[in-house]
Amino acid sequence: MQRFSILKGDIVKAKTDAIVNAANTSLLGGGGVDGAIHRAAGAELLAECKNLGGCKTGEAKITKGYKLKAKYVIHTAGPIWRGGKWNEDQLLKSCYENSLLLAKENGVRTIAFPSISTGVYCFPAERAAKIAVKTICDFLKTDTFFQQVLMVCFDEGTKEIYLNALKEYSEKS
Ligand code: ADP
Repeated sequence: MQRFSILKGDIVKAKTDAIVNAANTSLLGGGGVDGAIHRAAGAELLAECKNLGGCKTGEAKITKGYKLKAKYVIHTAGPIWRGGKWNEDQLLKSCYENSLLLAKENGVRTIAFPSISTGVYCFPAERAAKIAVKTICDFLKTDTFFQQVLMVCFDEGTKEIYLNALKEYSEKS
């Protein structure tokens, strides 16, 4: 899948049309990637987020990118891992799908994702990577709109996990 790449980096620096924020349901900022995005985008991002009325788990909302290189931020609330029997897999899939759909509606052709839910929300990384890779690659199979979808992993270990998931996906399909 040529339009999908997995790399190590800081998503805040991505030069894509949009970056995705692994936010929480309040959309009022948090730690991890959420904190980094808000710090880099500036206070105007939080001001816009305050008017959005939050975001349900698995859904996505869009704002401008302010001081970021990206024109837009797509905020999605990932599921908190509670053992796997609380619809976590489907909710994580919805995060990727709804972010891609919202991006497309807004004319976004290049987009970068972080590893949603695998930090403070404790979703097992291998399981999350399989879901992320399958959802994105299945989407791109029938889509001609996106030019580039990036998975920006913050550390080498996470990158390896996503690369393995992609290898497994490619061998199956
Ligand atoms: P969640 O609450 O959804 O688990 P976190 O922000 O805690 O979100 O973590 C999600 C992933 O984002 C983790 O793999 C974490 O290492 C990674 N991360 C943290 N900061 C950045 C960043 N600046 N760019 C890309 N990924 C990041």
